Amino acid sequence: LENIGYRALTEESACEYVKSLNLFLPDEKMTVEEIGDGNLNYVFRIASNRKSVIIKQALPYAKVVGESWPLTLKRAKLEAEVLKKHGEAVPHLVPAVLATDEELALTVMEDLSHLTIVREGLIQGNHYPKLSADIGEYLAKTLFLTSDFALHPFEKKKLVAKFSNPELCKITEDLVFTDPFFDVETNDFEAGLAESVQQLWANDKLKLEVAKIKYAFLTEAESLLHGDLHTGSIFASKYETKVIDPEFGFYGPIGFDVGQYIAHLIFQVLVRNENDRMVIRQQIEEVWDVFSYHFSEAWQNSVVHPFTKVPGALEYFLAKVFKDAIGVAGCELIRRTIGLSHVKDLDGIEDSSIRLDVKQATIQLGSSLIINRENIVTISQLLKELEVYT
Ligand code: ADP
Ligand code: MG
Ligand code: MG
Ligand code: MG
Repeated sequence: LENIGYRALTEESACEYVKSLNLFLPDEKMTVEEIGDGNLNYVFRIASNRKSVIIKQALPYAKVVGESWPLTLKRAKLEAEVLKKHGEAVPHLVPAVLATDEELALTVMEDLSHLTIVREGLIQGNHYPKLSADIGEYLAKTLFLTSDFALHPFEKKKLVAKFSNPELCKITEDLVFTDPFFDVETNDFEAGLAESVQQLWANDKLKLEVAKIKYAFLTEAESLLHGDLHTGSIFASKYETKVIDPEFGFYGPIGFDVGQYIAHLIFQVLVRNENDRMVIRQQIEEVWDVFSYHFSEAWQNSVVHPFTKVPGALEYFLAKVFKDAIGVAGCELIRRTIGLSHVKDLDGIEDSSIRLDVKQATIQLGSSLIINRENIVTISQLLKELEVYT
């Protein structure tokens, strides 16, 4: 029923659509191109010699491993609402939303084509000097602003309900926190990893800890998360950073966003040369430092919640977020190595023996982060843990 009135846009109808919004002049000469990767959504770039915009349209199904399954179109509206809510906290770090259309399941937004997707840029050996400070600020401000520490309890519960996102959450619950730890058909790993994967599946101690981390994801409605904050969801240049694609957004544990971002920097530490490694390590340090700086500042200025004035409360909360982030990072390292959805940082390594070594490292490091997260309580301890594998 939700699909009534929906039609997938073509390049031609995408053009007509933005004209109907008066974003372009009736007789303006325009070019249009579909630039998405086509698994879940269409992304059209429409440009004249004067301006350009992006239309992102949800498809009513997801194409995965050749099959397709239905996926709610409501996620387009939800993504736009997350962009707007996070934009209240950090307008300079997300694309501006120009229009939304619930029936067509689309968002018209600012064109960011002058920037590069960070994963692509990092793989090409580029550096983004502002990246981690910007992401640290993005995380602190979006997550604080939508938390109980900033909102009246009625407003908070309203937002929890508004950002209910069960279908997309289910994908994360399965692909990040369940399937990689069991012998499930959709897992995808190289034959050379089979022995390590068997050991992982037999490791009940590890699986108990993953169960706890998954349970936190299911139950802890701390803040409005991005929900998919890997380096493919970030556009950047040397001068600016923009976070896109929050269609997995929902109220969950703050450590989820923080941990996912850190995991994708860890991939880079493991695959880059000695010099670059240093830089990325510093960026892991920086994202946490900047996150805790801004989060603490907001906490100290908060007037909503009397507990924010209790000595030790901030330290307790930051330590909880850190521990959650370490556990999530561990799960992300493993699932991107042996689960359904991989990353180019690893799969793109051409030398198969180097590639296997790196993948063994992500499985071992991931397991160790999950199991030892109670004892890894500072970034330097995390970096030390990482040193074993470089
Ligand atoms: P999906 O949810 O399908 O992954 P994304 O929002 O990540 O969709 O967009 C897919 C791709 O489309 C991005 O990697 C980027 O290349 C392009 N894209 C998305 N949004 C924009 C934008 N605002 N400006 C320019 N390109 C964009
Ligand atoms: Mg994509
Ligand atoms: Mg994406
Ligand atoms: Mg997406």
